[in-house]
Amino acid sequence: MAETNRFGHHGATVPPQSFWQALAGKARRAFLCLFRPSYVRMSLKRREGECDMCGKCCRIAFDCPFLEIHETHARCRIYHLGRPTPCQAFPIDPRDLRDVGGDCTFRFSEPPSPVRAPEGELPVWNPSPLAYPGAMEEAEEG
Ligand code: SF4
Repeated sequence: MAETNRFGHHGATVPPQSFWQALAGKARRAFLCLFRPSYVRMSLKRREGECDMCGKCCRIAFDCPFLEIHETHARCRIYHLGRPTPCQAFPIDPRDLRDVGGDCTFRFSEPPSPVRAPEGELPVWNPSPLAYPGAMEEAEEG
């Protein structure tokens, strides 16, 4: 059974990562915020939920020097002075959730897929009468 931590999160659903994987996640977020801001904005639109200030994302790879851990919450000492953009944007996308073992109160909705057919159904060939004059007659004659 999944454990619940003091912040009410349910037990990790993702295997813990190594230090180097966690560091790579930090580098990836910095890269995205610097060079792919449009991707960050687009992905954050799919994010659902609210931060419950558990502070897990401030302890990825190493503890942030500005982090204060209190009994009921974590606090960032430079929160109102302008935290780094990757901190503000965490989690940018579902990959980031792995960096906290899946134990974050944010979730992401599935990206919309305009071309995905309903499961179990194959696309049906339907010659359009607008394709060229006489297309429907040709299709009916076989
Ligand atoms: S973003 Fe997620 S991991 Fe970070 S403090 Fe908020 S709830 Fe915790």
